[in-house]
Amino acid sequence: MSSVERQRWDVVVVGAGGAGLRAAIEARRAGARTAVICKSLFGKAHTVMAEGGIAASMANANEHDDWKTHFRDTMRGGKFLNQWRMAELHAQEAPERVWELETWGALFDRTPDGRISQRNFGGHEYPRLAHVGDRTGLELLRTLQQKVVALQQEDHRETGDHEARLKVFQEFTVTRILKDGSGNVAGVFCYERESGRFLVLEAPAVVLATGGIGKSFKVTSNSWEYTGDGHALALLAGAPLVNMEFVQFHPTGMVWPPSVKGILVTESVRGDGGVLRNSEGRRFMFDYVPDVFKEKYAESEEEGDRWYDDPDHNRRPPELLPRDEVARAINAEVKAGRGSPHGGVFLDVSTRMPAETIRRRLPSMYHQFKELADVDITAEAMEVGPTCHYVMGGVAVDSETAAAPGVPGLFAAGEVAGGMHGSNRLGGNSLSDLLVFGRRAGLHAAEYAMSGAGGGVVEDDVAAARAEALAPFRDGPAENPYTLHQELQQTMNDLVGIIRREGEMAEALERIAALRERAGRIAVEGHRQFNPGWHLALDLRNMLLVGECVARAALERTESRGGHTREDRPVMERSWRPVNLLCRASGGGGIELERVRTEPIRPDLLALFEKEELAKYLAEEELDA
Ligand code: FAD
Repeated sequence: MSSVERQRWDVVVVGAGGAGLRAAIEARRAGARTAVICKSLFGKAHTVMAEGGIAASMANANEHDDWKTHFRDTMRGGKFLNQWRMAELHAQEAPERVWELETWGALFDRTPDGRISQRNFGGHEYPRLAHVGDRTGLELLRTLQQKVVALQQEDHRETGDHEARLKVFQEFTVTRILKDGSGNVAGVFCYERESGRFLVLEAPAVVLATGGIGKSFKVTSNSWEYTGDGHALALLAGAPLVNMEFVQFHPTGMVWPPSVKGILVTESVRGDGGVLRNSEGRRFMFDYVPDVFKEKYAESEEEGDRWYDDPDHNRRPPELLPRDEVARAINAEVKAGRGSPHGGVFLDVSTRMPAETIRRRLPSMYHQFKELADVDITAEAMEVGPTCHYVMGGVAVDSETAAAPGVPGLFAAGEVAGGMHGSNRLGGNSLSDLLVFGRRAGLHAAEYAMSGAGGGVVEDDVAAARAEALAPFRDGPAENPYTLHQELQQTMNDLVGIIRREGEMAEALERIAALRERAGRIAVEGHRQFNPGWHLALDLRNMLLVGECVARAALERTESRGGHTREDRPVMERSWRPVNLLCRASGGGGIELERVRTEPIRPDLLALFEKEELAKYLAEEELDA
């Protein structure tokens, strides 16, 4: 065991994206010695890729906006399956989190009178997304990094050591959460990607902020880091995941050329006036407005177009419906033979605004299409189609504290946490989510850690984690991790993708079970120094676990809602509204499902909606209560 180094901290944050850094900053400010671990370079987390903006009802672009309207939009977007207290806290605290970022140095785009500019996005009643061109995530992360450095400089002045109270371990991957003899969190086991050396960080509190699961799917907007690690770490530590069937397929990913298939085309394109057309030139979204949204969306192109200049007297165009609706509509158009040459539809800004405006408001999109597809979006339409983008399901957490139930000392925030977005996330609500709940997770983790809870790690567990990490360096008949990964991605894409069917999901579960069995025979060549095959072999355990969670929960939920669409059960069933599905790791290495009732929505929050609207969503017994 001499080859495993040890360090002791109060709080360990796994992940250095927006959620992880916001948590770490708060934990350190609350007095906890805090370590941050990230699998990529510091500053390269997925959050950097966020384009459109941060949703917060600051009312800068429309004075009618307030937290209650943001709450209503979020609940409608999530089809009322959201953990309502999270949605409430999120809507109430998001503006403060954005203003705070500004005081820490973030440079947002401005309104003509100098306030933070806010743009339109799908499902948001008012322009609500604070943004920096289409590079908002980069600015958000840069600002949080700057704050981390500022705190380290403060510590240096006091202690002579920059890393005395806040240290970042970059390019380290956590493979296990460790516990003490009583089941409390006691730290994490990780390896350094470059050297392969092992490290145990002992700490009574661990915050998971590892992001999403997109790399389990073939076509995705997600980066290589999104292998569901935090989801799997929580499961293996005994914490349940909630509602994993809800995976968001963003309606507009690139479809051509094949090498860039899935890369995101930001929703800001539609927020700023871009329209979707099929091969016949028709703005088809007018044909796909569901009953629950009819009153809120324009009935004609003219009304939709007028809305951009006069939102108080017109309704928004249906291109700005929540993402699940738009993705399904695109899918239906392509299936009906009205798609673009490469299997998507057309997204056009070129006929909607001057070239100069496009280059100024959407600079990344302009360069992305020019460089990757040789398409000039100021002169021609883009071809786009759905891409796996975000997971609404995640670690079940307490709304106030972000603590995972049943595992004292474990917290989760950001995309890895479930509940906040219900069955479908609104654009912009992730960056605000990770700021609001990152802060809460850091604060409560620090309080917990400094209360003296938790004991030391169990040495047998450290030895087991080490043996597990080294297992792929085996001799004998071998499976290749790259082959298994491709097969898993294909399975998830084809059988548990945007449109689901009972028989296909059952087949997916069989294939995943077979893949797990083969994964037990994975062998990698070479040594522990930067070995991507070995890294993937370790990540595969996580992708197989989350893949099974998604397939099992999707098979169980016999309705269509938000990011879960079943061709064989096309209707949203009100009786499913108060039902959450929990996934837990079973003794045999697979996943067990449990149905649990959701907590009744607080009456004063229900009173924010019209009775007729609630009748479309809530179960009969909830309406009577
Ligand atoms: P991340 O930022 O991904 O950070 C995860 C961290 O965990 C990384 O540091 C990673 O290295 C680390 N990690 C993972 N596994 C391990 C492990 N095993 N050990 C150690 N470290 C680990 N949302 C919006 O609200 N607005 C937008 O405009 C928007 N645009 C988007 C555009 C794109 C192209 C994409 C893909 C997403 C977009 N989203 C947007 C979604 C949003 O960016 C993400 O949901 C959000 O950034 C997730 O942040 P996070 O902090 O939870 O995770």
